[in-house]
Amino acid sequence: MDHAALRALFDRHATAAVARRKSFGLRERRAALTALFGALGRHRDRLLAAMKADYAKNETEATLWEILPVQTEIAHARRHLRRWMRPRVALPSLTMLGTSARLRPEAKGVALIIAPWNFPVLLALGPLVSAIAAGNSVILKPSELTPATSAALKAMLVEALPDDLVAVAEGGPEVAEALLDLPFDHIFFTGSIAVGRIVMERAARHLTPVTLELGGKSPVLIGPGADLAKTARWIAWGRFANTGQTCVAPDHVFVPRAEEAELLAALKAELGRLYGSDPALSPDYGRIVNARHFGRLAGLIDDAVAQGATLAHGGAREGDQNYIAPTLLTGTTPAMRISDEEIFGPILPVIPYDDPAQAIGQINARPKPLALYVFGRDRAFIRRVKAETTSGGLGVNLTVVQFVHPNLPFGGIGASGLGAGHGRAGFETFSHLKPVLTNHLSTLPLVFPPYSGRVRALTRLLLRFLR
Ligand code: NAD
Repeated sequence: MDHAALRALFDRHATAAVARRKSFGLRERRAALTALFGALGRHRDRLLAAMKADYAKNETEATLWEILPVQTEIAHARRHLRRWMRPRVALPSLTMLGTSARLRPEAKGVALIIAPWNFPVLLALGPLVSAIAAGNSVILKPSELTPATSAALKAMLVEALPDDLVAVAEGGPEVAEALLDLPFDHIFFTGSIAVGRIVMERAARHLTPVTLELGGKSPVLIGPGADLAKTARWIAWGRFANTGQTCVAPDHVFVPRAEEAELLAALKAELGRLYGSDPALSPDYGRIVNARHFGRLAGLIDDAVAQGATLAHGGAREGDQNYIAPTLLTGTTPAMRISDEEIFGPILPVIPYDDPAQAIGQINARPKPLALYVFGRDRAFIRRVKAETTSGGLGVNLTVVQFVHPNLPFGGIGASGLGAGHGRAGFETFSHLKPVLTNHLSTLPLVFPPYSGRVRALTRLLLRFLR
């Protein structure tokens, strides 16, 4: 689609969005969500086949982590929508006696959703559910790196919903940048920090509010005396599912020095259980999305090893298949590229520490992560990590699944993102909570000019009350 076609599409959405203010109530929004739910069921096989074609994504994993969470999000929104849409009462203060105040959620208008490739269904449709629940119309730009999935998404949405409610604009950065020229009412972007920065700059020109769901390095901090077998289970699954291409995957692990060897043994055992002795042959282990990302990841391993890191496990790769085996590294140092860049692939550095303060200090010295995971049995240690660190979200004795809790907002902080999605938080992201103040018997005109002695006395009285 060229600039003119995108502009025409946007104009059609903008007109429809104004008309929808009076006709897109609870019943209509629920009907749209139900239509989406049904279409997801009918198109599931096509979507699963498309993800497999795009990067060998296992069908069960894709059902669990792409289809089911969207269905859960739809069911949750349908169930709670009536309450979310209800105006919220704001209690009066002393000076506001005689008025009533409400916060009235209203649709922002036309929203742009830009999605990444790593969970191409979930991260396109999850925000879409919130946007529709909040009454918006949406132009969705899925990722060009998963073209089969983007085409399947478009086919499904064209069939399920009117095209002035949801339209799909396929294409790469050029289409995304053309869309960013348009005066959307909200932009919900999921992707890399570098592109997030571009989106925010471009949105500023129209003063369009943005939600940025970004990435970064999410650390794991293991406390002294943790159950290392259980810990390794969560870490290995969280890191290597989706071939490590998960925004909230553990990026690197801090472990007490005395327990490093035991953790490595537990991680290796766990990897054997998950993907067998040769993960290249496992149908449950996927591939890197394309040759560019394969080269980037191979470069991270080579750079680390050249500077003295040790391949503690894995390291095998096959360029023609974009295959990299689950890989554990030890002996990494801050000077290596792998310690600085988000890894976003099946590589896990394990870093020993002598004192928790040292590990916490290293975490706090980096940009605020999207997720932080703490493992341990010592409650005081976990309390300390909660209090002394900051992150988009914190997982205690688990990894990744905080992403799919329907009642937990999901988002980053600082460099890992801005704003939040999911459930009620997603609904509010796509809503303007409009304050409406109504006068019944307000006494405020008593302090209007002229500022006579009576007004001055009332003012003094107010000052005394508000002390
Ligand atoms: P990306 O930033 O390269 O691309 C994301 C989207 O932005 C794509 O649709 C792409 O076409 C578009 N895009 C590319 N260049 C653009 C430009 N100049 N202007 C506007 N849009 C542009 O990210 P990716 O490689 O698809 O995804 C991986 C990244 O996303 C990782 O950093 C990961 O951590 C992050 N991520 C974050 C979350 C989250 O929820 N916080 C979820 C998944 C992925």
